[in-house]
Amino acid sequence: MATKAVKRAFKYRFYPNPEQAAELARTFGCVRLVYNMALAARTQAWTLRQERVNYNATSAMLTGWKKTGELAFLNDVSSVPLQQVLRHLQAAFTNFFARRARYPTFKSKKKSRRSAEYTTSAFRWRDGKLTLAKMAAPLNIVWSRPLPEGVAPSTVTVSRDAAGRWFVSLLCDDVIEQTPTSGVVGIDAGLDSLLTLSTGEKIVNPRHERRDRAALARAQRALARKEKGSNNRAKARLKVARIHARITDRRRDHLHKLTTRLVRENQTIVIEDLTVRNMVKNRSLARAISDAAWRQFRTLLEYKTDWHGRTLLVTDRWFPSSKLCSTCGALAERMPLNVRTWTCRCGTVHDRDVNAARNILAAGQAERACGEGVRPQRGNLRSGQPTVKQENPRATTGIPSL
Ligand SMILES: [Zn+2]
Repeated sequence: MATKAVKRAFKYRFYPNPEQAAELARTFGCVRLVYNMALAARTQAWTLRQERVNYNATSAMLTGWKKTGELAFLNDVSSVPLQQVLRHLQAAFTNFFARRARYPTFKSKKKSRRSAEYTTSAFRWRDGKLTLAKMAAPLNIVWSRPLPEGVAPSTVTVSRDAAGRWFVSLLCDDVIEQTPTSGVVGIDAGLDSLLTLSTGEKIVNPRHERRDRAALARAQRALARKEKGSNNRAKARLKVARIHARITDRRRDHLHKLTTRLVRENQTIVIEDLTVRNMVKNRSLARAISDAAWRQFRTLLEYKTDWHGRTLLVTDRWFPSSKLCSTCGALAERMPLNVRTWTCRCGTVHDRDVNAARNILAAGQAERACGEGVRPQRGNLRSGQPTVKQENPRATTGIPSL
């Protein structure tokens, strides 16, 4: 059986004691400060002198800052998270220069993620207990699921979210056994349901979704009414943050379970490329899955198919999946959004979304059949290119069913 070595993150909540909470709050503050100062230095060097400052140069700056009187407090926290944030800044610049990302921005006190990353020299892992540098006691971690047998973390990231919850993420080396399967599935971003599979199955939002959204809207209205700078406003903001956290947690959980199942059951998975479709207003308003959820779904599928030796195919963004009859291949002329079932000239009665999912599956398989040996499918996927040949986009623009 084939195996694959992967880096896998395991995330848990933990409850720091008061000293640990204070130490981490200090560390988060120093991490943010060092990041912002290094970003400012790099920006200045570039705009004034067209000089590129690399990681080593910022690391030397950090050593200098620690020796000055007003920044001596940087010596009080572990130096590793400070070095790590400089490495992250380096990665952000690499992505920027490769045109993969925007120019890095400053970390704001209120909005940025509070986190600190520790590598092996800055924590001790013994008998299933994790102790961070500058701390006497191990972290009180809630092991909601066990770490796999014999696995040890190589990097540890501690964070605190806007709702005030503490998390620790353990990055571990793990080995995955790849068991081939024969299933194939096409997936459509449905109009009424979250996702529709070519098997006819419809996947809906988690049960609590609607109630959570209503609660969020209420909490946001309440927050807007509170006086700026007041205690009540702070409380209302925390409430909004808590509901937000609950919604994103549940969504992630749902998508994790769903993608795990899809990858376990299927050797080949075909999805649509929705990036351009989102510009077509009607479609984006009508779709049940949000853009954020779709991106998350795709990201999860990308790494899980890779881990388990499966194939993920992405069909062309202009492929008319809704209007094509999956039985006879005839193209319907119009397919307004309110049409949920339709009858083709060949007599087949279609559920709109199931028909689309079947077409997506067929398009992916057809492309793979003619693309065999020409280019590796996963290579295409990584570069974000559609794997099905692009038709002239003009042929389909302006048709509301797309
Ligand atoms: Zn037909």
